[in-house]
Amino acid sequence: MTIKKAVVVDCPACGRKTPFDSSNRWRPFCSQRCKSLDLGAWAAERYRIAEEAKEEQLEGKD
Ligand SMILES: [Zn+2]
Repeated sequence: MTIKKAVVVDCPACGRKTPFDSSNRWRPFCSQRCKSLDLGAWAAERYRIAEEAKEEQLEGKD
């Protein structure tokens, strides 16, 4: 006998309990809004790090 247990995760963006299964197309996020918020923050952070790396390269350490 198999009991199908609902898998619930915390939304990485807002912390809300969110079903993690095929019915949730935004998983592991709770909504499209949280998914795009998180991707936006990730992209902004990545861009900032890239800019810092570029500046450091311009200084020419050797
Ligand atoms: Zn959320």
